[in-house]
Amino acid sequence: MTYNVAEIRNQFPILTQKVYKKPLIYLDNAATTQKPDVVIQSLETYYSKYNANIHRGVHFLSSHCTDATESARKTVQKFINAAHPHEIIFTRGTTEAINLVAKTFGQIELKKGDKVLVTRMEHHSNIVPWQMACEQYGAELCVVEIDKQGTIDLNSYEKALNENVKIAAFTHISNTLGTINDVKKMVEMAHSQDIPVLIDGAQAIQHTHVDVQDLDADFYVFSGHKVYAPTGIGVLYGKEKWLEKLPPWEGGGEMIDRVSFEKTTYNTLPFKFEAGTPNYIGAIALGVALDYIQNIGIDSIKAHEEELLRYATERISEINDLEIIGTAEHKSSVLSFIVKNIHPYDIGVLLDKTGIAVRTGNHCTQPLHDWYNISGTVRASFAMYNTKSEIDYFIEKLDFVLNMLQ
Ligand code: PMP
Repeated sequence: MTYNVAEIRNQFPILTQKVYKKPLIYLDNAATTQKPDVVIQSLETYYSKYNANIHRGVHFLSSHCTDATESARKTVQKFINAAHPHEIIFTRGTTEAINLVAKTFGQIELKKGDKVLVTRMEHHSNIVPWQMACEQYGAELCVVEIDKQGTIDLNSYEKALNENVKIAAFTHISNTLGTINDVKKMVEMAHSQDIPVLIDGAQAIQHTHVDVQDLDADFYVFSGHKVYAPTGIGVLYGKEKWLEKLPPWEGGGEMIDRVSFEKTTYNTLPFKFEAGTPNYIGAIALGVALDYIQNIGIDSIKAHEEELLRYATERISEINDLEIIGTAEHKSSVLSFIVKNIHPYDIGVLLDKTGIAVRTGNHCTQPLHDWYNISGTVRASFAMYNTKSEIDYFIEKLDFVLNMLQ
């Protein structure tokens, strides 16, 4: 089946919007993606027809929502090829999932003298939770460096993996550089020294096929809103053996088996980590979003986005005094750049007036920007619904804006 981008665009109502009377060109997909009709409709249907709190109701609506939530869990399980549905924990997003692991893993595994390994290109949400855990337990946060292109130096990574390292946490795809890390190899290297890994999949799940068993990831995390699903829902995948071993995180309803004032016993997986009323309608809509992607085919989406990135990189390279930040051999969907003597913010503000949405700033990767010795970049990021003609328009307006600012 051929990839029909026009048909796909028709399914995203927001894309027909105008901003400042100009057609919207949405190139801020690494920050969040837009939602197709089926996802929006599932929210409407569930809130208007079926809403009732899950897992504790005997009535029709509650059973319906419970079944739909558990079916969404299975959809996520299949999408990432997890071995069991109970290895899928619903969280608010990537950030919450990493905090969950850092806190609970820290509690049982980290002590003075231990190390946690991250990389230079991590998002703040894969740095700060580990830093907090390290501070709490007297461990040390260690960093694997990258080269100028934005590729992790695997030799340094291998050298950094020693018996003091208790976990390695790294991103699958960089939200600033677009680098696709060889995570399978990185997992293999860590496992050869019995070191577990957490992979931040926030920028990967929407662009590439993810198979957590093939990767042999101990933990894999992502956010719904970056994969065409609503905000406020995300996923922590954890291997059963780890999720069984980690202590519960938040206490409250749902995560318990039996409560008395003397002692509480905890629920089985996955509920042990899902205290309180979860965002079940968000979880159901996440299932719808993943089914939607599955129908189009993640490999077709990948091929389309690769072509967009190739084309945008080629076109943007025509512009004088512009430097692309992140030129790794394997890249996905992200094009960050700086222009000599021009502040990224000014470029972003002026592009906005032409209907183009890009992001400017440090994209929550300050240590990475420090390393490049820059304060920020302009970032254009692509999704399944973007087109080459949007890129042409973007390049034309960028040229125009830069002429104004120079
Ligand atoms: N990691 C990466 C690589 C990201 O791109 C993002 C979002 N920009 C996050 C983590 C955090 O995701 P969220 O804000 O949805 O929790």
